[in-house]
Order: sequence, then structure tokens, then C-alpha cells
Amino acid sequence: MSIEIRNVSKRFGDFQALRNVNLDIESGELVALLGPSGCGKTTLLRIIAGLETADTGNILFSGEDTTDVHVRERNVGFVFQHYALFRHMSVFENVAFGLRVKPRSLRPGESQIKQKVMDLLKLVQLDWLADRYPSQLSGGQRQRIALARALAVEPKVLLLDEPFGALDAKVRKELRRWLRRLHDELHVTSIFVTHDQEEALEVADRVVVINKGQIEQVGSPQDVWDHPASPFVYGFLGDVNLFHGRAHEGEVQVEGIRLQAPEHSAVQDSKALAYVRPHDLDISRFTPGASGIVATLTRAIVVGPIARLELEPTDSNPDNPGSGTIIEAQLPAQQFRDLGLHEGDTVVAQPRKARVFVEDWVSP
Ligand code: ATP
Repeated sequence: MSIEIRNVSKRFGDFQALRNVNLDIESGELVALLGPSGCGKTTLLRIIAGLETADTGNILFSGEDTTDVHVRERNVGFVFQHYALFRHMSVFENVAFGLRVKPRSLRPGESQIKQKVMDLLKLVQLDWLADRYPSQLSGGQRQRIALARALAVEPKVLLLDEPFGALDAKVRKELRRWLRRLHDELHVTSIFVTHDQEEALEVADRVVVINKGQIEQVGSPQDVWDHPASPFVYGFLGDVNLFHGRAHEGEVQVEGIRLQAPEHSAVQDSKALAYVRPHDLDISRFTPGASGIVATLTRAIVVGPIARLELEPTDSNPDNPGSGTIIEAQLPAQQFRDLGLHEGDTVVAQPRKARVFVEDWVSP
């Protein structure tokens, strides 16, 4: 089932939680709503579900307006971060619940319920736990049962709100892959909320980045990673160094180095921001005349195959209010060892790749 979100806004008192949100989700897509805490992700999910009403705008399921459709009739399955399975019911009964409470005319017979529940438990690979109670399950197992329970009523849409939020990092990773595989098998239109960019980029067909109640960017994981539409998206998706500089005649000068200006920046004299990921900095031992940012290596941490460095720029640039702040760099551990560097050494950092945003600049 496709979902269209049209001009949705929502206020709580004076607080604007969602501002004119528009989004089309295709049938069978797995979409992540990604953003920082409080940006409005859950509110949007609850509006889609019918648990919350929008102040303006509407939600269409397969082209049909859902405004007057009750939550129970929307054919939506939910999984929440702390999904309360019924404690007094076995795993089997938890999954069977949605089928047993159907109106008599739609309720399957006992043998069909049994078949269906066991099929679902096999699908989530937990059929061997059918007789256990929720208190006897791990957190990861509980979330898989919660998903089986949501799927039992054959929802047209699956909504997941931080489904793995309460689990430890290793289990989260396993469940992410598992969710992706399950989705590839079932193709239920699914929307999941997360504030974890790695989770969104790894699992979703498309990522919707939300900031302060507004959509900042929609795109495939590759798209948003390679071409962040705004400084916010760039900073939110991963570690980043921010340099201040000037754009002039199509060129950007940052910390005494030249970077390519974005195509649209024909601006004569503008403030520029350059974003450089730690792994996009080339590091070499300082030699006089070397081009790049001259800095002192203040800290080096080598963990497994990766060396993480902290650098302190040595000459402060009057154009750069951010200079003096720490620069983070990341390189393969072996390459770091080959450089023979020690803390206190002077190095040169040269951006291999940078994303430059040019702002309109008004001279003071
Ligand atoms: P988190 O990741 O922390 O859950 P979120 O992006 O899901 O955040 P929402 O739960 O959608 O954010 O909340 C968005 C904003 O709206 C928050 O500032 C929240 O405090 C506010 N808000 C949400 N529900 C209500 C409510 N019922 N009454 C008042 N304010 C609310």
C-alpha cells in the first residue's frame, strides 16, 4: 500500500512539532525517519497510524484519504521500543492475540490460528520459544516476537518506532540485518523511526532526514551520504570537521588551503563553510612549504585497524573563528605506523574531499 503525506503540520501548545511535511512512500518500501531527539519523528509516525490527528494536511493510503478512518481500520501494525508483550501470555498466545480478537465473522478457526502463529514464529526464527513467557526471553527475542505479533493480522503498513532502541549494540546490529531480510521476503510497506544514522543507512530503501519538524532531505542511503543537502544533514550523518573560510571568484580559501567551490557559488565574497570527514584528511609529517593545515598531533588512539588522531592547528587564521579547535582525523593503523609519528609532532592535514557550503556574506 502506498502512503502520501500531504502538508502535515502539528502544534503542541506553542510548540510547532511538524511543519508542512510532504512525503510519498511507495508500496513495499522500507523508509527510515531519521533525526535527532525531539525533531518530530514519532509524532509523524503517530499521525500516519491515526493515533494522533494533524492540525492541517492529510494522509492518503493507496490514494484514499484516511482522515475519517479509525486507527483499528487502517490495517497498520506497530512495533515500539518498549513493546509490552502480555506478561501472562505465552509467546504463542501473544502472537495469536490479534487473530483471536477479530470480529467473529473474520476470526480464523483454531487450527488456522495455530498454523499461522507457528509460521510467523518460524519466520522470526523463534518457533522453539512458543511455550515460553516474555520474562523468559532476551530483549532481542522480545522485539522479534513483537514483530511477529504485529504481522499476524497481515497489516498493509508496518510502523516501527525505535524498535531496537533499548537493545545493546551487538544485538541491534543483528536485528537490523534480520529486519532487512524479513522485509525483502514480505514487502510490507514499512516506516521505522530511528535517531541512529548507521541504522537508517544500513536498513532503509530511502532515508528521510528530519530536523525541527521539517524534512531536510529524502534520498537513498547512498544519496544522502554522498550528497547531503544541508550542513545539518552533513553533520548529522557522521563525524565531521567544520572549517570557516571565504569564497571568492569561484574559489574557497579555508585555513590557507584552496578548495573547490560549489558550482552555484558565483558569489563574489561570501562566508564559506567546509565540511571534511575525518577519513577524508590526508596526514603527512610536516615539511616546510607543504600545503595544508599545519597542526600538532595532540593525541593518537589506535584501535584494531584504525588510528584516530586529534590535531591542534598551530597558526591561527584570523578568518577562521573556529581555528584553535581540535581537528579529528582517521586513517588506517598501518599507514599511521608507517608515518612514525608521535604525540607532539607537527603534521600537515590536507583535505582530500570536502563539502563546501557558501553563505551570503555581508561585510561588517
Ligand atoms: P525522540 O527520538 O526523542 O522520541 P522524536 O523526534 O520522536 O524524538 P516527538 O516525540 O515526535 O520527537 O516529539 C516532537 C516534539 O513534540 C518534542 O519536543 C516533544 O516534546 C513534543 N511533543 C510530543 N508529543 C507531545 C504532547 N502530547 N504534548 C506536548 N508536546 C509534545
